[in-house]
Amino acid sequence: MTTAQLLTLSHPCLGRCGVTYRLAMPTESQLSDTALRTFIAQRLDEGRLPLVLTKTIGVGFGSGAECLACGQTITTDQIEYQAFGPKYGAALRLHWGCHVLWQLECVKRTRPHS
Ligand SMILES: [Zn+2]
Repeated sequence: MTTAQLLTLSHPCLGRCGVTYRLAMPTESQLSDTALRTFIAQRLDEGRLPLVLTKTIGVGFGSGAECLACGQTITTDQIEYQAFGPKYGAALRLHWGCHVLWQLECVKRTRPHS
């Protein structure tokens, strides 16, 4: 585990501040950041990913589930985020890095234009 990962995991804001977001790069997905951002934006457009800021996050190692953001398997040596939105339904499973990009996109889209 890298220092950046430890910082992110132990940070009281659970990676929601800008500082840890920058530390959290790069993502764990096989895709490049740019490709992944485009992919996540598409899934948000299609409604496959919800436009929510997660309230509760569980962190663990991958369970072999498919990442909701990039569609790739979250392997047992990768960090898996289980995100719960306002509705508290089933957890959304994403790579740690994919979760960061997804939340950044949600923040961008929900922030009022000024
Ligand atoms: Zn992913």
